[in-house]
Amino acid sequence: TRTDDTTTAASSAKLDVDVVVVGAGFSGLYMLHKLRQLGFSARVLESAGDVGGTWYWNRYPGARCDIPTTDYTYSFDPELEKAWTWSEKYATQPEILRYAQFVAERYDLRRDIDFNTRVVAARWDEAAARWRLRTDTGQDITCQFYVMASGCLSLPKAPDIPGAGRFKGEVYLTGRWPHEGVDFTGKRVAVIGTGSSGIQSIPHIAAQASQLTVFQRTPNFSIPAGNGPVRPERLAPLQADRDAYRHAAKWSRAGVPNEPTQIYGRYSPPEVHRERFEAAWQSGELIPILSVFADQILFRDANAIVAGLVREKIRGVVQDPQIADLLCPTDHPFGTKRPCLDTGYYATFNLPHVRLVDLRRHPIQSITETGIELAGEALAFDAIVYATGFDAMTGAIVSVDITGRDGLTLKQKWASGPRTYLGLMTSGFPNLFTITGPGSPSVLSNMMVSIEQHVDWIADCMARLRADGMTAIEPTDTAEAGWVQHVDDCANITLYPTADSWYMGANVPGKPRGFLPYVGGVDAYRAACDEVVARDWLGLKRS
Ligand code: FAD
Repeated sequence: TRTDDTTTAASSAKLDVDVVVVGAGFSGLYMLHKLRQLGFSARVLESAGDVGGTWYWNRYPGARCDIPTTDYTYSFDPELEKAWTWSEKYATQPEILRYAQFVAERYDLRRDIDFNTRVVAARWDEAAARWRLRTDTGQDITCQFYVMASGCLSLPKAPDIPGAGRFKGEVYLTGRWPHEGVDFTGKRVAVIGTGSSGIQSIPHIAAQASQLTVFQRTPNFSIPAGNGPVRPERLAPLQADRDAYRHAAKWSRAGVPNEPTQIYGRYSPPEVHRERFEAAWQSGELIPILSVFADQILFRDANAIVAGLVREKIRGVVQDPQIADLLCPTDHPFGTKRPCLDTGYYATFNLPHVRLVDLRRHPIQSITETGIELAGEALAFDAIVYATGFDAMTGAIVSVDITGRDGLTLKQKWASGPRTYLGLMTSGFPNLFTITGPGSPSVLSNMMVSIEQHVDWIADCMARLRADGMTAIEPTDTAEAGWVQHVDDCANITLYPTADSWYMGANVPGKPRGFLPYVGGVDAYRAACDEVVARDWLGLKRS
């Protein structure tokens, strides 16, 4: 069994294949499998040393999924499902990585993957109707179809703090964690950032460090995961009828079977508020807590009910009322930033060696050789952990120098925000596909369901093009403009755009503001994608 850092020599200087796939995470792995089944020649290029994507890179302590693993799993092969059993409600990163490796071995995927190979540029050759790709290993590859399976949360945001390069102690980035792990025993540790990676890792780091200082710019809502063995009642519908369960996931709002409620928070009495909230809280799952009321993401008053009850929970755990206040989010409606799932996060701030620094009141002046300087206070550290998030959804795509028709680069085209048709394609860039791209449900959904849907759609599109004797496909400008408008319209009737979130691009200085994923739901989205095909590729030009 190969476990890690499988290095494939990037030997072939020139290669021509039907399809190049960038990325060997869950998207790239399934894409490769599907392409092979359809008889396409394909090559996957991956900058990491092995498969797994997100789960290869994010090895920080406490890293887990936040969608129950029985749902966060491939469903394309029932036999694969029988061959793998998850050990917990929310599996740890090592277990999810082992699953990705298991899948790679089961379908013999590694032989078509070049690891340690970064795609740096791609150019559409109009005369040849092919893409020409360049890698950092000097490969020159041509292909008919080019698929960016490069991940929505795969490009960590560089720390934008003055003096960040000066620190002489240990420096870690949660999204690039060392494979051998880190022992913080007896060390003075700073964690910068309280998004999901910070919230998952802080209790673990606190358990080892002699002193832990958490630097928080914005508090996030987090709910206790209630991890452990999968509850029998949660597993029962899957075991009773796998196909029906997976079908329900595909046609659900967020990729996990869930009956949408018709109950409005603003029209129901306080006892109903509390009862419904408690049930969602006890589930330890994101989708129930994000759908306590039908109107919580639409209206501030309904949202405030849920947000207020979460704050009540935080205050019930954190002993010092001033610290509790700092940990209670008040600057964004509940759910407009992705809420976190935690194990013991808030209780960590009751420990005597853990300190919380509010960066809004005490901004970092500079990182120094020995630590972190605030106005009037210098703090010394042995290690700094950056849990500062990702350039989400578009970062990995535009970091490749992609040039489409007429010399236009994707970076130029998306300068004021991404423009796509269905989050799958963009005009002027024929035969380029993005998996879980901007304008699709993507990060608002159980990604496994969205990945499988995109891979199936893209593979079907390529196969039909081939069957019809055609070579290229791209959206019309009109269809794309219509979809962009629809994505915006859907977002604008919700509270989502009111938050400074990574969904809005707000965490990356200079990134254009705009709600990146499609909020209309996995079910409505799937219907739209199916309809495009049923109506003879509505909105797409084929040649
Ligand atoms: P990735 O797994 O990100 O893989 C993309 C790969 O592309 C990477 O390995 C990267 O190295 C490679 N790549 C990128 N650019 C290039 C290039 N130019 N050249 C070569 N290679 C390149 N989603 C959920 O639905 N549920 C969860 O519980 C959940 N938990 C998460 C927890 C964490 C800590 C993080 C960071 C994300 C989580 N996600 C979750 C989102 C997660 O990213 C997706 O679920 C899924 O793993 C994405 O798979 P992917 O293959 O599309 O992308």
